[in-house]
Amino acid sequence: MTTQDFISREHKYGAHNYHPLPVVLSKGEGVYLWDVEGKRYFDFLSGYSALSQGHCHPKIIEALKRQADILTLTSRAFYCDLLGEFMEKATKFFDYDKLLPMNTGAEAVETALKLARRWGYEMKKINENQAKIVVCEDNFHGRTITIVSMSTDPSSYRGFGPFTEGFIKIPYNNISALEKVISDENIVGFLLEPIQGEAGVVVPDEGYLKACYDICKKHNVLFIADEIQSGIGRSGRLLACDWENVKPDILILGKALSGGVTPVSAVLANDEIMLTIKPGEHGSTYGGNPLACAVGIAALEVVRDEKLSENADKMGEIFRTEISKIKHKMIKKVRGKGLLNAVVTEPQGNIKAWDVCMLLKEQGLLAKPTHEDIIRFTPPLVITEPQMYEATKIIKNVFESI
Ligand code: PLP
Repeated sequence: MTTQDFISREHKYGAHNYHPLPVVLSKGEGVYLWDVEGKRYFDFLSGYSALSQGHCHPKIIEALKRQADILTLTSRAFYCDLLGEFMEKATKFFDYDKLLPMNTGAEAVETALKLARRWGYEMKKINENQAKIVVCEDNFHGRTITIVSMSTDPSSYRGFGPFTEGFIKIPYNNISALEKVISDENIVGFLLEPIQGEAGVVVPDEGYLKACYDICKKHNVLFIADEIQSGIGRSGRLLACDWENVKPDILILGKALSGGVTPVSAVLANDEIMLTIKPGEHGSTYGGNPLACAVGIAALEVVRDEKLSENADKMGEIFRTEISKIKHKMIKKVRGKGLLNAVVTEPQGNIKAWDVCMLLKEQGLLAKPTHEDIIRFTPPLVITEPQMYEATKIIKNVFESI
């Protein structure tokens, strides 16, 4: 089968809910991917930041294989020997009392919303069904009905109503906007991405996270951080919130929690919040399954043992320095932290970000536009210095060819 055959088959039998770059991948290792024709690429998307530990990391794959032969699913109807170990490891890693395991990022966000509301009713003593959660414009937290109810992006919510109530949307990176709404006593939480990923890697001003956190504390409102994309080393710190020494009341993780191997997400919080949900009130058949736990434990160990946060910090500096040296009228801005970066482009005639990504693909580097004009560059955190220089050279060559 040719590349086109694979694409046509997927197009014929699959829903058209994505618009992939026309490359058919069949193998991955570290920072590299190979297509069905044997061509090698740098992966500068990393499964939307899930593959921080690189493709098929041997330690994670070994854990997966070992566990796959022993026990894969018990459901939470029973105990399993690995869940406690995963919970202990992750809670100590991120310094929380407890962890609630789920699978996808969206499920973890939903879990956090339920936890915040429940905490509001039980601990803050607000009246039933009155809870409100403040969210930010241009957020991306996933695709469920409740989550798209928080969205300000029509391509996320249009045609999917009616929507879930109880959200107040304020501009991102705007402290006074939060101050203005926060005195409403029915507000239980403020949910934000410490760096807005899907919006195009929007890094808020220094001091924003801390100021928001302090405002939340003052008004007895939970500070809820969606670190599904920005967390676990991606931003050059273990959590993007660490840049401002802010410890979220509720921490939402996903993606790299499994190194791109199997869906593993989690919500972390201290007892006062987590224990407001009682047996039978929330859960998921696959959440916390033994395979996921084995993978999750290995994925976190790799982040720690290979110092991936530190490497992301260092490689990110090189990336932004090298890309900033490219003087091209299509490049409007280079921004990001650690290895969560983006280039904001200015179309040249009919050449847009998509066309740049097509040219990058031809030159052996895979990246994907977000919002028409922004190209996100988020390689695996295991990328080495020579690989980073080689990859930035490809990007430079492509822009210079336009
Ligand atoms: N939250 C953030 C910040 C994300 O970037 C994403 C996915 O891109 C999600 C939530 C949703 O995660 P999932 O696609 O695993 O449901």
